Amino acid sequence: MSGARRALLAAALIALAAGGAVATNMGNGPPDVRETFYLFGTLVEVETRGVSEDTAHAAIAQVGKRLEAAHRDWHAWRPGELENLNAAIADQRPLVVDPTLAELLKQGRDLSCASGGLFDPAIGALIEAWGFHADTLPEGDPPPEATVDDLVARHPRMTDLRINGNEVRSVNPAVQLDLGAYAKGAALDLAARDLRAAGVQDAVLNAGGGVQVIGSHGARPWRVAIRDPFQWGVVAAVALRPGEALHTSGNYERYFDHDGVRFSHVIDPRTGRPMQGIVSVSVLDTSGARADAAATALCVAGREDWPKVAAAMGVRSVMMITDDGSIFATPEMMARLEAVDGDFPAPVQVVPLPEDVARPSCPEN
Ligand code: ADP
Ligand code: MG
Repeated sequence: MSGARRALLAAALIALAAGGAVATNMGNGPPDVRETFYLFGTLVEVETRGVSEDTAHAAIAQVGKRLEAAHRDWHAWRPGELENLNAAIADQRPLVVDPTLAELLKQGRDLSCASGGLFDPAIGALIEAWGFHADTLPEGDPPPEATVDDLVARHPRMTDLRINGNEVRSVNPAVQLDLGAYAKGAALDLAARDLRAAGVQDAVLNAGGGVQVIGSHGARPWRVAIRDPFQWGVVAAVALRPGEALHTSGNYERYFDHDGVRFSHVIDPRTGRPMQGIVSVSVLDTSGARADAAATALCVAGREDWPKVAAAMGVRSVMMITDDGSIFATPEMMARLEAVDGDFPAPVQVVPLPEDVARPSCPEN
């Protein structure tokens, strides 16, 4: 690995490893302030720039509360509001939920509908059957074929949800919500909003596979690296513009290997089985929730169909890496990718998105 590639990677790792609260002052003006939190199995690092330490600490404390609430209320397998809602759905009872959760479910339903059901947080029972409702990775055999087929036949979908104000019900009792595919993106959207409301104009929120920025890093943009899924290094760097989010999904972080086959935690709702063939998808967008949801949906869509699903979901900047090491990017993403060592690990094949994709009609409530 060359010096440049190592330097960018190391910078990201040092920031994450710091932990707790850190203030650094690289020049004149108030110091950058950093704190780390824990959310859905990853560390979230918040770094503010250009505000007093008092303002920074107060704003970051708000973010901490926000992330804690999201962790508690949106967790797919711990007692909390989402578990209560899943129990109500199974019993075919409506439940009044927190307004933030009701909003998140509407957003998830719209995104799911736009993705043609490839992103579908209603498949919680399938995700559990594959062993991904645990802090540790699954071991042993995949679930019995019949279990998977039965769950698929019951056809749980986000569009089964009816949301009236804050009252949520499902017309299909097989719906079990698991928001893992977009919760991180949505939580970072809310956290960025909290930071702005608290007077912070420049900050970065970094949560492993997801990054969200507000403003810039002084005169420079916030610059992030997309990890190389095959080896220790980075594929490319991206300079994020104010308000942008970059999310990556794939098969290299949460998965298990069985008899030489890799089973990703991204499940194809049509088959009930983990997606195959895609190593990672990165999506750049102004909405973290949409970028995160789309990254998951495009993994499921696969090598052939991803451009039309991206167009239907309204995302323009996408990079995909397939299991043979090929790299694909939309023209919008290509324009933003910076080779860290003067070269990408493989030639990037540019794929324009289709212009004439019909948007499905989605439920109103
Ligand atoms: P990460 O958690 O690494 O950011 P993703 O954003 O891809 O990864 O989310 C994967 C998670 O989303 C899984 O752990 C599971 O909880 C959930 N999930 C898996 N497949 C789907 C799908 N097709 N639609 C919606 N959610 C899914
Ligand atoms: Mg996702």
